[in-house]
Amino acid sequence: MNLLNIFTRYPDQEACIEHFEGVRWGDDPHCPHCGSTHVARKSEGRKIGRWNCHGCKSSFNVLSGTIFEKTRVPLQKWFMAIGLIVNAKKSLSSCQLARDLDLTQPTAWYMQ
Ligand SMILES: [Zn+2]
Repeated sequence: MNLLNIFTRYPDQEACIEHFEGVRWGDDPHCPHCGSTHVARKSEGRKIGRWNCHGCKSSFNVLSGTIFEKTRVPLQKWFMAIGLIVNAKKSLSSCQLARDLDLTQPTAWYMQ
């Protein structure tokens, strides 16, 4: 998938979250802390994709327990970084990735 496809298919954070929810949970969302399926999407609030667990009373999102947990880099940039890395014919330096996605070099290096 090239950058244009990624940009079109995942235009914002919400689309990326929706993709992750489908891949990770399908039609069966569950709590990453206790495994309960007695969960409900938070209806209000500014954070996208937050869920409440009625089993352990915790709050989580689809990224909880993954390498993307607590990342401050928008998911669309993660998707593009993955696209750039897997499509690179030889390799991709962190300096190049930083320039391509408007990141700092240490952040790009960490993502790689
Ligand atoms: Zn739970």
